[in-house]
Amino acid sequence: MTIENLKIKGKRVIIRCDFNVPIKDGVILDDNRIIASLETINYVLKYASKVILLSHLGRIKTEEDKKKNSLKPVCDYLSKIINEKIAFYNYENNINELISNNKIIMFENTRFFDLDNKKESLNDDDLAKYFSSFGDVFINDAFGTCHRENASNVGISKYLPSSNGFLVKKEIEMLNKVKEHPKHPFIVIIGGAKVSDKIPLIDLLIKRVDKLIITGGMAFTFLKVNGINIGKSLIDDESIDFCKKILKDYRKKIILPEDVYVGLEFKNDSPKELKDINSISSDEMGLDIGPKTIIKYKEELKNAQTIFLNGPAGVFEFPNFSEGTKELFSILKNNNSEVIIGGGDSANAVKKLGFRFDNISTGGGASLEYIEGKKLPGIF
Ligand code: AMP
Repeated sequence: MTIENLKIKGKRVIIRCDFNVPIKDGVILDDNRIIASLETINYVLKYASKVILLSHLGRIKTEEDKKKNSLKPVCDYLSKIINEKIAFYNYENNINELISNNKIIMFENTRFFDLDNKKESLNDDDLAKYFSSFGDVFINDAFGTCHRENASNVGISKYLPSSNGFLVKKEIEMLNKVKEHPKHPFIVIIGGAKVSDKIPLIDLLIKRVDKLIITGGMAFTFLKVNGINIGKSLIDDESIDFCKKILKDYRKKIILPEDVYVGLEFKNDSPKELKDINSISSDEMGLDIGPKTIIKYKEELKNAQTIFLNGPAGVFEFPNFSEGTKELFSILKNNNSEVIIGGGDSANAVKKLGFRFDNISTGGGASLEYIEGKKLPGIF
């Protein structure tokens, strides 16, 4: 069932959105996910009699967590950008009154129900039934949670005619450019911290790519396997065997850093020094890639038709060690290739370093699991 085929005219439509956005003191720090949900919301608003919006926000383990993770700021923000009144159901006011007096109603964070035996996160059937009782049809447009089976994204679909929304559709089309028929040369850049988190991704993509650039913290486990002294750089011991095998089978496809900026401590203001990859001392840790490495990436990426990036090239959160990731993004920005950026930390890095790309996934874990070929329960 697609959203276009779902009969929504005059119906009460429940939309599960992903409003899991960073909020500090009631101020929304990044509205990407809210903006990404607008296409479906605006489409439904044209036809539906009532629109019920659901979303989670953060994790709720204690009563205290509820204060920090209220969706009320999102409700106010969305109301302003769509220029419509949105009634907020905080689970204490009268929902039937709210529904009869308003067209759009946003429910408070669905994970508030996690304080009662994790009912939302464990897809409690009664909770799913409860949510579904407010609608006639259901649209799941929360791509970021499609890999999880919760009451508000998967559970409801058992009780109502359901489809995904435009955002999920767009994400799938975008990720299929990586997963199914990428145009070659196809180059994948994998960075970030832990090799073990990305083993299934590397394992799958290495067979399909023309080149695999391994960068960021995870490069050091591969470099160590290559006999390089990595000093105190990040190491993922449990992945050594995997790295050995991948390097043995695909050495020609893999590109590793040739120089790095090292520090003595994992700190922004740690004194910084540029080192050739063969001259890292035992008390140093690599925190960013160096200029020789950037030139090499540029050369490799020059003719690429499709580029997929997941993970930063250094500790981008530290301004003194963010230059390599910045340079890498500039290369991607100025390439004539199709560039697809995985969500999570890669999306954060893009935003933090002031870049914009057309194809950025709104879901970190979900985008990885989709590319790895896992079936996502939230995709109908
Ligand atoms: P991931 O979630 O696996 O994409 O990892 C992202 C994290 O990797 C970011 O928080 C970065 O700070 C971290 N990272 C990137 N490069 C390094 C490095 N050289 N050493 C330690 N951490 C790194």
